Amino acid sequence: MKKINLTIWNEFRHEKKHEEVRKIYPDGLHRTIAGYLAAEDLDIRCVSLDEPEQGLPDEVLNSTDVLIWWGHCAHSAVADELVERIRDRVIHGMGLIVLHSGHYSKIFRRMMGTECRLLWREVGEKERLWVVDPGHPIAAGLPATFALPNSEMYGEYFDIPQDGHIVFMSWFEGGNVFRSGVAFQRDRGKIFYFSPGHESYPIYHDPNIIKVLANAVRWAAPAKIFPDRITPQPESLETIRTANPYGSVH
Ligand code: ZN
Repeated sequence: MKKINLTIWNEFRHEKKHEEVRKIYPDGLHRTIAGYLAAEDLDIRCVSLDEPEQGLPDEVLNSTDVLIWWGHCAHSAVADELVERIRDRVIHGMGLIVLHSGHYSKIFRRMMGTECRLLWREVGEKERLWVVDPGHPIAAGLPATFALPNSEMYGEYFDIPQDGHIVFMSWFEGGNVFRSGVAFQRDRGKIFYFSPGHESYPIYHDPNIIKVLANAVRWAAPAKIFPDRITPQPESLETIRTANPYGSVH
């Protein structure tokens, strides 16, 4: 069995700075997620912003099948050159799963082409998620609806492109709604945005949230990474009889 190479990238600043976040994720939320996702078909690496080459040197990125991304307060510290390398890998087939405040990361905005702004409120209100595409692989095995007792509200309008395929919708106690799980394809690569995951709530300890991530990793994993996407100029397969009185001009 060929294993899926999963790399979990975490900004990993809040856990170092705030005692209350460290209590929930003592080794960083990337390692918590990795612990829950551990399975025979996955090879998991955990990396973070303050490591050499911001955690993603070529040898790591170029052997990653699926990249999970969690960032919040240090989006601007991520090198533009790294963002371009990640984008290049995605368009050749790497899966990308962007979590929570990663909506405003350079890589997500680069892949979307929009600002990816949203409404937010942090008062620990209840969030209820609804599966709106029960046949989607990312929703497999999940109940029709499940709730998080405390969450940060992310609300509409969320300016992502309209080609996103909505898998989950969220309702918040304060009245807002949000497209909380949205799938995209950009060239060869699959992208999934999933909004629950504020660092000061134990959201990545929730079995339903972990199930979504586990499903998303398998869904986003490419059958293969395409080495090249240059479109060649093919010879015709059939004889072309149509006369071209205009010639061809380059
Ligand atoms: Zn947050």
